[in-house]
Amino acid sequence: MKQLGRKVIRGGLLLDIASHSAPPRDLLVDDDTIIEIGPPGLAAPDDAQPIDAAGQLLMPGLVNAHTHGHGNLMKGAGDRWTLEALLNAGPHLNGGRVLEDKYLTCLLGGLDMIRSGATACYDLFYEFPLPSLDGLMAAARGYRDAGLRVMLAPMIADRSFYEAIPGLLEAISADTRKELERFRLAPGRETLRAVERIVSKWSFARTEARLALAPTIPLHCSDDFILACRDIARDAGLGLHMHLAESKPQAVAGIRRYGKTLTAHLEELEFLGPNVTVAHSVWLDDADIGRLANHGTAVAHNPGSNLRLGSGVAPIRRMRDGGLVVGIGTDGAHCADHQNMFEAMRLASFVSRVRSVDAEEWLATEEVLTMATAGSAHALGLGDHIGRLAPGFKADIVFLDLAHPNFLPFNDPTNQIVHTENGGAVDSVMVGGQFVLHRGRFQTIDIDAIRRKVTTRAMELRERNRETRDLLQQIEEVVGRFCIGLAREPYPVQSLVSD
Ligand SMILES: [Zn+2]
Repeated sequence: MKQLGRKVIRGGLLLDIASHSAPPRDLLVDDDTIIEIGPPGLAAPDDAQPIDAAGQLLMPGLVNAHTHGHGNLMKGAGDRWTLEALLNAGPHLNGGRVLEDKYLTCLLGGLDMIRSGATACYDLFYEFPLPSLDGLMAAARGYRDAGLRVMLAPMIADRSFYEAIPGLLEAISADTRKELERFRLAPGRETLRAVERIVSKWSFARTEARLALAPTIPLHCSDDFILACRDIARDAGLGLHMHLAESKPQAVAGIRRYGKTLTAHLEELEFLGPNVTVAHSVWLDDADIGRLANHGTAVAHNPGSNLRLGSGVAPIRRMRDGGLVVGIGTDGAHCADHQNMFEAMRLASFVSRVRSVDAEEWLATEEVLTMATAGSAHALGLGDHIGRLAPGFKADIVFLDLAHPNFLPFNDPTNQIVHTENGGAVDSVMVGGQFVLHRGRFQTIDIDAIRRKVTTRAMELRERNRETRDLLQQIEEVVGRFCIGLAREPYPVQSLVSD
């Protein structure tokens, strides 16, 4: 039950990211929006419900710029996986899902994110063999029931992973190739028809769950398919999200297929624009960065999954110097392996230190924290609504407990949020003026009931996908060998992954 109306939050310290300070401030909230911020004793109407924030540090909700809701039931799956091994495992990780699974997996991810201080995410959600209105509505309901805002993008393609990498299919034996037929996606035109239906029938409130489109990876989509996605998005005013140059095999295969970089190819297709967010973007050269900047395209930086999959370290300093807006994401829990944005920030800070011996080139904590809030909000297309605590912005507020060891002693809020905090000090979380987590307890859902359901469904799915898993494990070595071959080819960009 939503309790709208006015609230006045008193007694807290309000984070000022840039000055590394947190002066005492009161906040007046009307319905879902902050309308005034002022020194302690801020005048408030009599009907404003008082909220005590004494001993708490107030910060904007973190915004997860790139995740996959379908991954939450598969955290901890796999160990020494490259991106290509993960994509090979996709059918058994995500197969056999019914509507309840699609709901549960997003609910679970939403709760994970809230528990660790996020209030919104960009979810590239996958359904096989093509997206469905029911499936996406179930995913959106999962996030809504958790209490998290979502930009929900059906993740689509018209080529399977095996068809996407030039030469890979031919490297697989004829018998196995036949078996892989069952993982063929729906024809592109069917998928596009499904997307158009979803777009026309979408009925969620724009403040809760908005739609976007995610043609997943350039190599996995024919040019016609990419162009159709671009046009549907343009006509319906939607955002677009795409994985770009995530791994070296992708970058090398891009040159092989297109005769140019993946980014140059997208530019030539006139796909890039201010409504586009590209994820990972590890293997970009300066010309690629210039291309993205020229079109106002944002980047979602996922340092955790880039490390986990051995994809490399993205050139974030160069991107920022080139004028790109960069947000931070966790990526899916099947390759991250959780949804903790504090860890994503910490890794973003740390990996920037291995790209240069010059400390001036490293990301400063205020840059990282701005990326994970305002930067990610921009990547979601919601930069005017979330990602900052200021009048006119949504009341998406994280309350950190200053008595927690992470803040004892309390020396520097910006540095401690990025380098010390791990989610442990998250006491309460407000989304749109409503507490979704209060004093450590979810306000939206019975977490014990969810725990039981998730455990049962994950076990059933593992069982249901056992045969698929056995088949895919058999070809993992062939896929691995082929893609390592690509990864060892020369490519004119460095990313600290050695041959
Ligand atoms: Zn991803």
